[in-house]
Amino acid sequence: MKTFSIAIHGGAGTLVKGMMTPEKETAYKNALTLALDKGFSILEQGGTAIGAVEASVKELENSPLFNAGKGSVFTAEGTHEMDASIMDGSNLQAGAVSLISGIKNPISLAKDVMEKSEHVFLAGEGAMQFAKSQNYNLEEPSYFYDQLRHDQWTQIKDTDAFQLDHSVKKDSKFGTVGAVACDQNGNIAAATSTGGMTNKKWGRVGDSPMIGAGNYANNKTCAISCTGSGEFFIRGVVAYDVSCLMEYKGLDLVSACEEVINKRILEIGGDGGLIGVDAEGAISMPFNTEGMYRAYKTSKGEKEISIYK
Ligand code: ASP
Repeated sequence: MKTFSIAIHGGAGTLVKGMMTPEKETAYKNALTLALDKGFSILEQGGTAIGAVEASVKELENSPLFNAGKGSVFTAEGTHEMDASIMDGSNLQAGAVSLISGIKNPISLAKDVMEKSEHVFLAGEGAMQFAKSQNYNLEEPSYFYDQLRHDQWTQIKDTDAFQLDHSVKKDSKFGTVGAVACDQNGNIAAATSTGGMTNKKWGRVGDSPMIGAGNYANNKTCAISCTGSGEFFIRGVVAYDVSCLMEYKGLDLVSACEEVINKRILEIGGDGGLIGVDAEGAISMPFNTEGMYRAYKTSKGEKEISIYK
């Protein structure tokens, strides 16, 4: 049997040991473990990579700890606008949604765009109409209310500042979630979901829903999900850049991910990280920040759940 594997992330940033209580650290690790096992058990039972990444991301979206789904940050208007994307490396099919509200699991809506529409990317009002046509129930705003996120927002709400997730200091922490997987048939997939930046306005969209920037999958090379300063990840076309280095320059997964995160994106001022998998089940999880919530598991029995460097 071929090696199968899965990796997930819950955002990168200024995650320094000692800044978090041991209880909080345990809560994060438990949430990561739950999401990891959800996806891995699908792979174990012979399920697809696309099914596994959706299941893991849904689990992370259901946790208030991460900036996606339930835990999404507040916009300048005090609302929640979420973005998500998913891509299947076996056929290069992709789906994405942006600026959506009230949807419990944005990643499933992105998957429905891929499977049930003729389009790749739906945004705002129109994406909500599509959700309605697919019989999605809308959650009340109270479902997305979190005291911590609200406090972060009230600190900067009447200013022009915007902030990446629940940073203590400005712009120091990202909480986007993502998953990449390789299944028993050697098919790979990637999924990414986010609430974006606290106090964002003007319909700001980051890299997470953009195929090629925050998310990409191609059986020939790799499946990638990113987290970090979205504007830089868009300009660096990060996820596709990793794939290009593998396809055109012949780099292996680990070298390509390293080159992009610790060199190319740094050169233009971007901070963050990514998770990647190739069709042999190899995993890479580099970041250029102090930490990244991350975990992976393979059919060879390897497993890691970590936060810090
Ligand atoms: N990349 C996301 C964005 O810019 C933020 C994050 O990774 O937390 O929307």
